[in-house]
Amino acid sequence: MQIELTGTSIIGFARGEKSSETFRAFDPTTGDEIEPPFHSVSIDELHRAAVLADEARIPYSQIPGRERARFLRSIADYIEALGDTLVNRASLETSLPNTRFIGERARTCGQLRMFADLLDEGSWVDARIDHAMPDREPLPKPDVRSMLRPVGPVAVFCASNFPFAYSVAGGDTASALAAGCPVIVNAHTAHPGTAEPVGTAIAKAVADHKMPEGTFSLLFSTGHDIGQALVKHPAIKAVGFTGSRAGGRALMDIVAARPEPIPIYTEMSSVNPTFILPSAVRERGTEIATGLHASVTGGVGQFCTKPGLVFISESTKTPEFISNFKSQILNTPSAPLLTAGIQRAFEKSSKERAGETNPTTATSESPTGFAVDPVVFETSAVEYLDTPELNDEIFGPTTLLIRSDDHDELLKIASDLEGQLTASVHGTESDFAEYSDLIAILETKVGRLIFNGFSTGVEVCPSMVHGGPYPATSDGRATAVGSRAIERFTRLVCYQNFPDVALPDELKESNPLEIMRMVDGTIS
Ligand code: NAP
Repeated sequence: MQIELTGTSIIGFARGEKSSETFRAFDPTTGDEIEPPFHSVSIDELHRAAVLADEARIPYSQIPGRERARFLRSIADYIEALGDTLVNRASLETSLPNTRFIGERARTCGQLRMFADLLDEGSWVDARIDHAMPDREPLPKPDVRSMLRPVGPVAVFCASNFPFAYSVAGGDTASALAAGCPVIVNAHTAHPGTAEPVGTAIAKAVADHKMPEGTFSLLFSTGHDIGQALVKHPAIKAVGFTGSRAGGRALMDIVAARPEPIPIYTEMSSVNPTFILPSAVRERGTEIATGLHASVTGGVGQFCTKPGLVFISESTKTPEFISNFKSQILNTPSAPLLTAGIQRAFEKSSKERAGETNPTTATSESPTGFAVDPVVFETSAVEYLDTPELNDEIFGPTTLLIRSDDHDELLKIASDLEGQLTASVHGTESDFAEYSDLIAILETKVGRLIFNGFSTGVEVCPSMVHGGPYPATSDGRATAVGSRAIERFTRLVCYQNFPDVALPDELKESNPLEIMRMVDGTIS
């Protein structure tokens, strides 16, 4: 498939107008603008997309799961057919290497196919059937059946740091389309030239599979007015957002103030506390320092799972560990961040943190574009506990090392942590026996606990949990990655005393789809 960028939004089967309000992507290496201009949608066009999504709501929800599965597989095929041109454009708009996007494209298409497999298998709807007992005393029991049904049109907000996996055809879109919900995507201004061809691939699949017109729209805009108007629109019934805490919180507040509040799943920031226990520092300090460096600087530190707080237990090897890690940071070249805004935030926050801790950084002579130098900060547990700002995420290649020599101090630190996506614990079996109380506290704080590993790198598989208590996300019961992500865009519907012919296939007596169901309390 050829890529011809038009710079216009996709509104059902039509393209948006070439309005005079435009923006361009930037090349983070030079800071220069990249052609072509992208045209902001008008409020009228947003309304049109929302009306189409509303019209698609019932017909799309009634399309059998196995047909939706074929549709999702076509989206993956069409994205792959965009070939190197798409990968090169993502690389140009982010200054991240092509290899990263070959991997991220595989993850994104794999995710679409994972949901397709889930729909083919069909049991995900959690069908439950309780047969009637007309002769029950003192009152007859009705026939009661329930299952998960789609929630309705979903607004999806893309993240700057994952132009494929958390963007136009990313996890939120894939899981919402899989659930049977039309999707309207608010494109990220940092990578519009990646967003448009991916959106075109989805639109082609919509047309080829004869899905309702409003199944998918993609909106480009500058500023936040369109995104905010989208989540306020009465046709929108749920929101998926991946991005900053400020952006996520703003949208949560807008959604809560709607006349009809709706579910909103914001995946926001996390500092992913990492605990290196005494025996681990002594026995594997060098290996851990190397792994930590890769995790902190990978993707120029722009992963929501980057370890931002590293608690190191005092041991005879702790000074060596810290000096080893610092020298790796000093030898890491400067690299461009994704946007001028992320660069400004990194420089401002690093300057403030340097006033509160002990910083170590190499200083490049003439970094260009949005480039920054990696920096590591160090402090004591006592100072850390006295300085709540040290818990703030700094998005970019940096981390904070915190030395602690006391078991109870670590427990206090863990108890005071905000909600996080992950926590990692490096230790030996003896450490784990001694620190079982630490693990019990961490379990209340995070979505994923990692043993002797690093938090970056999120496996896409049915058991993955990419979520966590607020402020990591707006709803700590949900995951944005893995097949359970589909549940976010569903709600339970119960059918009481319905004739078989009027029931969804999943609940019919003969089980025509041959799915797993709970019948009279037994899974079969
Ligand atoms: P961002 O600045 O919050 O932007 C995300 C999207 O939301 C953009 O489309 C942005 O519009 C829009 N937006 C931001 N604030 C808004 C507001 N007040 N009203 C309406 N729309 C708004 O985040 P980012 O720079 O893309 O990503 C960096 C952050 O994302 C980091 O904090 C990182 O940790 C987090 N992140 C989290 C996860 C996760 O799974 N938890 C994954 C990846 C990244 P514009 O395009 O116009 O700016």
